[in-house]
Amino acid sequence: MVGTWMDEIRSDSTYDYASDWHWVTIPDGMTYDQTEKNPNGDVIMTIERLILELKSKQLSPTQEIAHLKMLVHLVEDIHQPLHVGREGDQGGNSIKLKWFGSNSNLHSVWDSNMIDGTRLSYTELAVSLGTPDKITVEGWQRATVREWATESMSFRPQVYDIGNGNLSYQYSYRYFSIAKQRLLQAGVRLAGILNEIYG
Ligand SMILES: [Zn+2]
Repeated sequence: MVGTWMDEIRSDSTYDYASDWHWVTIPDGMTYDQTEKNPNGDVIMTIERLILELKSKQLSPTQEIAHLKMLVHLVEDIHQPLHVGREGDQGGNSIKLKWFGSNSNLHSVWDSNMIDGTRLSYTELAVSLGTPDKITVEGWQRATVREWATESMSFRPQVYDIGNGNLSYQYSYRYFSIAKQRLLQAGVRLAGILNEIYG
């Protein structure tokens, strides 16, 4: 329920300052450190800041609640490969295509179309992701926020494998496993961060 709050407030102009916090652009072949930083913020610097501020225990209860709601959302966003975008196509939003014959774009395919296509409830989807073993969990939780972003970039060859732009079963069959893996990694890493702050 709190996970979608940051998308809901996008229609409220008092939160315009946070509109660039959902994503980051890292051109092919570059690292985040080599990029020119967005003065409005990006998903990497925002997650790093939220974690530091939550650990500082200096926040008011109202601020702490907002920080946690943003953290839940952004840890998931950064694992969606197209929230770490290449240059020039707005994280796939400007790549228009057909999804089962209806107008969509590449970003929406990864944000929602493939997931909605399963027709699973949130709980059913979560169960379908399975449970990673302890060694895997520890490895995932050791990675840094910047490494999560590099992982998202590494899926570009698959994500952009869209042929003539008429996507349907074949694309999901090939690549939905990536979306599931990213959801699972994001959940495990969010749990790790919450344990670090409150455990
Ligand atoms: Zn978002």
